Amino acid sequence: MDIGPVLLRLLPVLVALAVASLVEVFVPLRRQSRRSNGRLTTNLWLLGITLTLAMGLNFALALGAAYVRQSGGGLLQWLELGAAASFGVTVLALDAATYLVHRLMHQIPALWRVHLVHHIDTAVDATTAFRQHPIEGVLRFSFLAATAFALGAPPAAIALYRLLGALNSVLEHANIRVPRALDRLLVWLWVTPDMHKVHHSRDRPETDSNYANLFSFFDRMFRTFTPSGRGPFVHYGIRGYDAPASQSIGAVLLLPFRSAALDSRASAVRGGANSAGVSHDRRGET
Ligand SMILES: [Zn+2]
Ligand SMILES: [Zn+2]
Repeated sequence: MDIGPVLLRLLPVLVALAVASLVEVFVPLRRQSRRSNGRLTTNLWLLGITLTLAMGLNFALALGAAYVRQSGGGLLQWLELGAAASFGVTVLALDAATYLVHRLMHQIPALWRVHLVHHIDTAVDATTAFRQHPIEGVLRFSFLAATAFALGAPPAAIALYRLLGALNSVLEHANIRVPRALDRLLVWLWVTPDMHKVHHSRDRPETDSNYANLFSFFDRMFRTFTPSGRGPFVHYGIRGYDAPASQSIGAVLLLPFRSAALDSRASAVRGGANSAGVSHDRRGET
């Protein structure tokens, strides 16, 4: 298999990042400091790590999917679905898997520490889109690969989903103002920038909502939807992680491990009691 197409798929993502960063200058949703706390430098490091990792994982995914197809395996081939139906089912199933893994990362404490890297960003803009710990990249990939291989999904549909996911991630994080009427219309089907901004709130009921990646109806179906009108007004970040020391690239890469160690020490001191202190967001405390 030629690695050229995998490399080529990065191009639209980089163009989207550049365009979104430009639009943010002219039509910002809110005035915020991009460089405060060193978060921009960290985001650019994580962008490089995430895209490099994604190239390797996408290549493995394409190889695996092609093998399953050629060997006639997977639900779609057993059901003998046509090309269009297979395409549609694949995109929907991969988006459902992405909703599930995102929700699990909020609900399982060890996974939350990994996902915390994304949520502690004190501002939200296009560079937040790929701010994730490499472990999160592998975790998301595992759910996608398991779903794709079980379906015997067409490699082209998988590639389309990965591309749409990356492009919409840039769009939904971008600090751009979308007319309220347009957002209200789109959000019935699609995860809009305002809808995802709610997910970056530091108020826990809002953080634990709006998990969807492409299709907003997964949040409506599973009753985790918060109206997007709140998006422009939420306070970003997680209490306890705003300082520059928590935002450096070294600190965020160690976050899943350091938090676990501190949590277990705190819980030993307190005899297993929850270490929540003064914060109303107990997951932000270490
Ligand atoms: Zn999240
Ligand atoms: Zn996000």
